[in-house]
Amino acid sequence: MHQSPREGRLAASFSPSLAIAATWGVAFFWSCLLAFSYLWNFERTKEETLRMAYAEARAVRDKDMAFRRWGLKHQGVYVPVTEKEGPSPYLRHVPRYVIETVAGQKLALRAPATMVREMMDDYVEQGGGVRGRIVGLRALNPANLPDDWEKAQLEAFEKGQKTEVWEIADLDGKPHLRYLKAWHMEEGCVECHGVLGYQVGDMRGATGVNLPLAPYYAHIDDVAFNLVLSHGGIWLIGLMGIGLSGRQAVLRARERMAVIAEIQHLARHDSLTGLDNRYSLMSRLEQALATARRERQKLALMLIDMDRFKNINDTLGHHIGDGLLVEVARRLTHGVRESDIVARLGGDEFVVALTGIAGPEDALAVGSKLLAALAEPYRVEGHLLHSTPSIGVALFPDNAEEAVGLLKDADAAMYQAKAQGRNRLVFFTPELALAAAERLELERELRHALATKSLTVVYQPQVEAMSGRIVAFEALARWPHPTRGWIPPSEFVPVAEESGLIESLGEWVLEEACRQLARWRKAGIHDVRIAVNLSAHHLRSAQLASRIAAILHKHETPPGMLEIEITESAAMADPEHAIEQLRRLRHHGVKIAIDDFGTGYSSLAYLKRLPIDALKIDRAFVADLEHDVNDAMICRATVALAKSLRLAVIAEGVETAAQRDFLAAIGCDCLQGYHFGRPAPAETFMAVLQAR
Ligand code: C2E
Ligand code: MG
Ligand code: MG
Repeated sequence: MHQSPREGRLAASFSPSLAIAATWGVAFFWSCLLAFSYLWNFERTKEETLRMAYAEARAVRDKDMAFRRWGLKHQGVYVPVTEKEGPSPYLRHVPRYVIETVAGQKLALRAPATMVREMMDDYVEQGGGVRGRIVGLRALNPANLPDDWEKAQLEAFEKGQKTEVWEIADLDGKPHLRYLKAWHMEEGCVECHGVLGYQVGDMRGATGVNLPLAPYYAHIDDVAFNLVLSHGGIWLIGLMGIGLSGRQAVLRARERMAVIAEIQHLARHDSLTGLDNRYSLMSRLEQALATARRERQKLALMLIDMDRFKNINDTLGHHIGDGLLVEVARRLTHGVRESDIVARLGGDEFVVALTGIAGPEDALAVGSKLLAALAEPYRVEGHLLHSTPSIGVALFPDNAEEAVGLLKDADAAMYQAKAQGRNRLVFFTPELALAAAERLELERELRHALATKSLTVVYQPQVEAMSGRIVAFEALARWPHPTRGWIPPSEFVPVAEESGLIESLGEWVLEEACRQLARWRKAGIHDVRIAVNLSAHHLRSAQLASRIAAILHKHETPPGMLEIEITESAAMADPEHAIEQLRRLRHHGVKIAIDDFGTGYSSLAYLKRLPIDALKIDRAFVADLEHDVNDAMICRATVALAKSLRLAVIAEGVETAAQRDFLAAIGCDCLQGYHFGRPAPAETFMAVLQAR
């Protein structure tokens, strides 16, 4: 498919891969978010738990210190000397290190430090391994000498860098929180520790705690496990939600892509035949021309119009016409190369662009082949249809350089092919451009003529067959052209139809006819009708009945004095609609005749239902009446048909007395033709009418 950059961007913004990428992105973000939340919560738990451990270590140490101070305050504690527990060897230098009670029992002095350490040693089992520490760089008891870490801390305490410290370390292969706080000499300490040279206020050492972290770590593991459970659950639920909505988004994107593709296809293709439409043709043609210009190639543009397609459409119905167009499209596509462009402009107009051709000979060869292929009969729903193409060809760069110019030239050539009798191929020439320009000029002039009311209406009498008395006139439009003289309706009516001027023309003739009826009434002539021709285009107009009613009302035309002529093919184009329109007209008292009867394809079923008053036998059957047995038979049959449908019969184109006599004899009610009078200005007939 040929896609414009804008369409490409539009399609990309709805693409399923974008939806998939977005879903993965959201899933990744969600995972990161939960991982972050997990880590944050975990870290916070760890931090909190260690803070608790630290708080416990401090509490234990502070309690130690309380005991110690109490012991100090009471100058130490005495304990009975037993076999197992003798006096402390490190306090021998203290004179009262052993005393005797009145009862003669020996008591040994326990330094507060020793007391607390022993307490802690006893307590270590129940306390879950919490062990108090008292250390000094110089110690009475070697057990109180520091290890490496403690030594480093003590030195830092001594230097006054800090007063307390904690760390996490492995002791005996198990994680512990080690807490140490500086301890200074107090008054009561000197007695025992003075020997080590310490003075009151000196940094004596430090007390602390080694707190086993196993229970805390177990707590952290517990919380971590719960965090993993809760976060994992939330993560999975979220992931499922993201997956589901992602799936929805992908499905929606696929749907949207399909709709966009469909819309793009519809925007560029003709819905009936699937060929490129006008829009697509122009863009592809521009591209093909750009390539041709670059590579110095030639290109041929063919405009193809199916002859008398309208007849088929009108008489057999649109679906049969559609079937024929689809077949035309198929034959065209088969007749050209893949790289060529085949498009439908609308209606029965097709375009073929042949790219990379050597010259007009190539275009002629392909064109002739297409001409032959399209002229073959068509079989649509059991109907065998005959339609031929009229093909106009324009060449790049010979005739025009741009797409619009080429189309215009091909159109002029096609018009010429029609004018030369259809079913042919015509190459564009500058003279044709002139003809096309003239046609345009004619349209412009007709528009002007209508606006300035410079057309006229002539009247042709219709006489009663039996008496020869004038009973009606047919109003026929005439165009007195300032330079070209009288232009016949056969030339300007098609121009009016093509350019949409036909409704104004029809209404203007209707008004003229009503005005003329009023003039005759004024002159005392009350019993002549006027028949006005109405084009097929006009018959389709929704406002037709109301417009005619307004004109009748404006000119106070008595009902039944105006007759409308509709050609057979116009009435049968869309019989149901025609029945509806004619019924409305008749409601206003207008009479209706079917013109040129016998030249189209009437369905008798519809003819029976059409609300009409008369049939007009076409002049083609009248002209050869005397020599052609078939024509005579047709006239007879038409009269018989009309009678059986209770319709009046008018024969037109009566030029001779013999024709008049024959038609009168077979039962025609009215006759019209040069034999009774040529179309002429109304005044011409004033005297005759008054003389009747
Ligand atoms: P039509 O309605 O069948 O009109 C009859 C045509 O036959 C007229 O040609 C008339 O001049 C011509 N004619 C009359 N008697 C004879 C005769 O004895 N021998 C020959 N050979 N021809 C005769 P005209 O005026 O050129 O009109 C041609 C067609 O143009 C009309 O055919 C009608 O279909 C159309 N037309 C004329 N005026 C109007 C109009 O105001 N509106 C519309 N929509 N169509 C009009
Ligand atoms: Mg007529
Ligand atoms: Mg006629």
